[in-house]
Amino acid sequence: MPKLIPVADESSKPFWDAVNAKRLLLQHCGACNKLQYPPQATCQKCNKGDQLTWKEVQGKGHIAAAITIEDGRLNRRMADMPYNLAMVTLDEDPSVNFYANLPGTPPYKVPVGAAVEVTFEEVAPGQLIHEWRVV
Ligand SMILES: [Zn+2]
Repeated sequence: MPKLIPVADESSKPFWDAVNAKRLLLQHCGACNKLQYPPQATCQKCNKGDQLTWKEVQGKGHIAAAITIEDGRLNRRMADMPYNLAMVTLDEDPSVNFYANLPGTPPYKVPVGAAVEVTFEEVAPGQLIHEWRVV
């Protein structure tokens, strides 16, 4: 299943370095005590940038919603259709969301509400991405 190969920038390099070490590291804002994903230069909740630090999270979540892509517009994914697109909420802060294809779960069979855990897939030599798998 061809996926985007991430290109890290200044804000996201610590995140991708951690993913390559099979760890999930999110930004934490000390001003409003929120986790944030994806990495950004400032906090998306309170807009401050001077109190962002990195915090390792457990990588456990739940499926909040899911659809099956049957007629997508992403050329590189057309051969994969139908495929899952699920929204995962992070247990440590359910306001943090991730999109997932749920490898191992067949299309149309996504158990909405089920627990998931982070997993890592190699998309290029030495480059991992985070994914989510039903537990
Ligand atoms: Zn904040």
